Amino acid sequence: MFNSLQDKLDKALHNISGRGKISEINVAETVKEIRRALVDADVNYKIAKDLTKRVQDKALGQNVLTSLTPGQLMTKIVHDELVELMGGTSEGINLSGKPSIILIAGLQGSGKTTFSGKLANFLKQKKNKKPLLVACDVYRPAAIQQLKILGEQVGIPVYTEEGALNPSSIAENAVKFAKENGNDVVIVDTAGRLAIDEQMMNEIKSVHYFIKPNETLFVVDSMTGQDAVNTAKAFNEALNFDGVVLTKLDGDTRGGAALTIRSVVEKPIKFISTGEKMEALDIFYPERMADRILG
Ligand code: GDP
Repeated sequence: MFNSLQDKLDKALHNISGRGKISEINVAETVKEIRRALVDADVNYKIAKDLTKRVQDKALGQNVLTSLTPGQLMTKIVHDELVELMGGTSEGINLSGKPSIILIAGLQGSGKTTFSGKLANFLKQKKNKKPLLVACDVYRPAAIQQLKILGEQVGIPVYTEEGALNPSSIAENAVKFAKENGNDVVIVDTAGRLAIDEQMMNEIKSVHYFIKPNETLFVVDSMTGQDAVNTAKAFNEALNFDGVVLTKLDGDTRGGAALTIRSVVEKPIKFISTGEKMEALDIFYPERMADRILG
């Protein structure tokens, strides 16, 4: 994860480590390298520039007050700024509904169905919940089949309606089914398309309107970099979602999506997905992610 960003930041911070004392010149050099590393990792230029400006101001401001070496000081400042950029603290999901309804949105291939299975498994194993999975993709029978297989794998029932054409009514019926069968969480997996289009957005807005979810999670492939951020913006405008799920962080992703989605859409990343297996799901902690990025 983020190998190239890690290497470049490490190099930038290593260069200043050798210096005996922080000076305006070597801070400026280091900050420039950090900015370049962030932009190369697909962080939007303005975000990278603002962040490095804050790093520079803090480094020069704290110079006389600290006993840290220049390297330690810069690393700490960069770490704190990265944590802040990613939202500061970890935020959970709202499970206060009876049942709690969780709507899963995103483009086709982003990892929605896989995540739906993982989330159901997580809630069952870690939160002692009795989830119901709901297949709402009326266009791709294969997607329904995939959710059924995942449900079987993790021992969680999957609500489907063979041949039904209206996702909103499937979702509403599933909520009724959950109430009658004692399921306390309903996870609704929806249809995505390869790119944003009006029909998909109208459909998911309608599902959202009818089932009034307690939590709407937007799933996005971290490998898509700045596109991930743009897709997040479009889904947020349509759904005003509650949180983001970043997938495929096990791949050779550059880091831009993880670092910037939060500040662009002002919604927290809540989970990260790091593989195809049902266990490959983690709660997102900005602090841990910053630790990882800085090695
Ligand atoms: P959907 O179309 O949004 O429902 O996406 P899927 O859940 O079908 O996922 C698309 C592909 O990505 C599948 O082959 C998944 O196995 C794979 N996938 C999903 N999440 C991850 C992940 O975190 N890491 C990796 N490596 N693959 C993933």
